[in-house]
Parts: sequence; C-alpha cells; structure tokens
Amino acid sequence: MTLKNDISEIILTEEEIASLAKSLGEQITKDYEGKKPILVALLKGSIMFMTDLIKNIDTHIEIDFMDVSSYVGTQSSGEVKILKDLSSSIEGRHIIIVEDIVETGNTLNSIIDFLQYRKAASVEICTLLDKPVPSRTLDVEVKYIGTKIPDGFVVGYGLDFNEFYRNLPYIGLLKPELYS
Ligand code: 5GP
Ligand code: MG
Ligand code: MG
Repeated sequence: MTLKNDISEIILTEEEIASLAKSLGEQITKDYEGKKPILVALLKGSIMFMTDLIKNIDTHIEIDFMDVSSYVGTQSSGEVKILKDLSSSIEGRHIIIVEDIVETGNTLNSIIDFLQYRKAASVEICTLLDKPVPSRTLDVEVKYIGTKIPDGFVVGYGLDFNEFYRNLPYIGLLKPELYS
C-alpha cells in the first residue's frame, strides 16, 4: 500500500505549488526590498513551503523557526503552547510568519501577540493555504495567500495527520474514513 491510496483527491500538484511559491516569493522580494525581514516558519507543517518560498526571494532575509502546538488529530484545541522559541531577538525587525494553512486563525492570533510583545517592527503572514471556516477568529488580514481551499482535511507537502503524510510531495484530501 502506498500513501497515495489514502488520498481521495489531489488538491494541489507539485507544479501548482511551485508556481504559487514563485509568485509569493516575487511579491515578498518587491515588498521587502532593503528591509531585511526575518521569515519565521511555524514547525513542522511549513518546512517544505518555507524552503520553496525562500528560494524565490531575491533580497536579504533571515530565517528562523518556531514550534507551537494547537492541534491533536483533526480538531483545533484553541490552545497554543510554545514548544520551540525563536533563536534570536526580533526587536525592531520586520517579521513574516510562514504558515502551511490558516483555518480558525487561533494559532496565528497567539503568535502575533507574542511577536508584538517582543517588539517586532511589523508582522505579516504568508500562508500557502487559506481554508476559510465559519469559526475563523483571526484578528488580522493575511497579506500573502497561496490559494484558498475548500473545507476538508488535507495532508502532504509538510502537512500531517497524526505526524504522518508530511513527506507526500503534493497536497491531497485525506480519505475521511481514515480519521472519522
Ligand atoms: P488554526 O489555528 O488556524 O485553526 O489552525 C492552524 C493549524 O492547524 C495549521 O497550521 C495546521 O497545522 C493545522 N491544520 C488546520 N487545517 C488543517 C488541515 O486541513 N490539514 C492539516 N494537516 N493540518 C491542518
Ligand atoms: Mg501550522
Ligand atoms: Mg498538524
């Protein structure tokens, strides 16, 4: 049995993802020329997106990583815990949070508060996927969005179900019978 057997539909192919990463990277290059932003990837889901995105940014940037937990299985707990903090000070720096997917926005609300408390000069969000749900609570606008996707639990390209499927090179819908 290959991983593909657990996927009911491919939502984004490798080629489609590559083209989204390219266009977002080009926008960031233009918007942040001379600002030396720090791109903060949220572990672990955004690792693949982060590497593809930064290859398409052609101006000085730094990268850092944070690990926060908010999800167990397929349900948001609405609670965020910092598992790995940033490795350097962000005071006075322009921050771009790199996320795999925004659903309720609970995770991002907490992280933005935290970055503002640490006196970042600005905080913007770059997400590959935007899954608009009725329970969206995000207080801020997401400046960079790869694409909107319909409701449904997706895996692959860094995104997991109970830590599996992150290694799929594309994004697909997980067969509901596997988690319900
Ligand atoms: P939020 O706090 O916006 O509700 O949830 C954001 C986080 O939940 C994402 O960064 C991701 O880790 C996880 N998440 C939300 N929707 C999905 C999904 O469809 N698939 C997977 N694998 N993770 C999701
Ligand atoms: Mg995430
Ligand atoms: Mg997860």
